[in-house]
Amino acid sequence: ESIEEEVEEPEDPLEKALKNLEDAEQHEFQADVARVMDIFIHSLYTHKEIFIRETISNASDALDKLRYLAITDDSVLGDNKNLDIFIEYDKETRTLSFTDTGIGMTKDDLINHLGTIAKSGTTQFVEALASGGDINLIGQFGVGFYSNFLVAEKIIVTSKHNDDDQHIWISKASNTFSVLKDPKGNTLGRGTRISIKLKQDATEFVDEETLRKNIKKYSEFVQYPIYLKVKKE
Ligand code: ADP
Ligand code: MG
Repeated sequence: ESIEEEVEEPEDPLEKALKNLEDAEQHEFQADVARVMDIFIHSLYTHKEIFIRETISNASDALDKLRYLAITDDSVLGDNKNLDIFIEYDKETRTLSFTDTGIGMTKDDLINHLGTIAKSGTTQFVEALASGGDINLIGQFGVGFYSNFLVAEKIIVTSKHNDDDQHIWISKASNTFSVLKDPKGNTLGRGTRISIKLKQDATEFVDEETLRKNIKKYSEFVQYPIYLKVKKE
C-alpha cells in the first residue's frame, strides 16, 4: 500500500485576501492583446529574462512621466520625492516584484493600457513574429508588458495614481483579467508594483545572482536607482 503525500504550495497572502472578495470586475482582453499574450505564454524562447528589461523600462517611463509633470508643478510629488525602482523576490512563494514611485495608473488606465485597448503595434508584432521576426523586438511594438507572461503564471499589478484610489489588476494568464479597488487602501503612496508569480519552470528568477546579473545588464540606460532587496536564506 502506498502512502501518497500531498505537497501544498504556500498560499500567497494577496490571493488569500482576495478569496472572498466579490467586487472584482472582470474584463476581457482585446483579441489582438489575447493573441500576443498567448504567444508569450506558450513561447519556447530561451531568453525569457527580457521581461526584466521590459518591466524596468516601463518603471523608468513612469518615473519620467512624473518627473516631467513635476517640472511645472512639484506638488505632484506629494510626500514622496524619491524616484526609484525596487525589486524584491521570495523563493518560497515564487514571486518577484518590481515597484516604482512613478506616475501610477488609475483604474481606467489599468483597464485600458493593460488589456482592453490594443495599440497599433500589437497586430504588427503578431505579424512580425509570423514572418520570422524575433521576440526580442517587443520593445519596438509597445507590447513589453505582456513579456511578463514568458515567466508568469499570474500577474498582480497594484497601482496608485494621484487622481484615483489604489487599484489592483489581476491576470491568471487566461482570456479575462480582474480589477478591483485595493481593500488595503493606499499602501504605495504613489506608483506601481508589478508582482509576478513565476511558473514552475522559471524559478531561476527568484535568485539573487540571476537577478543581479540581469538588472545590471538592463539598468545601463535607466536614470533612476534600482534597489534589489536581498533575502537572507
Ligand atoms: P509601452 O511601454 O511601449 O507603452 P508596454 O506594453 O510596455 O508598452 O506598456 C503598456 C502600457 O502600460 C504603458 O504604455 C503604460 O501606460 C502602462 N504601464 C506599464 N507599466 C507601467 C508602470 N510601471 N507604471 C505606469 N504605467 C505602466
Ligand atoms: Mg514598455
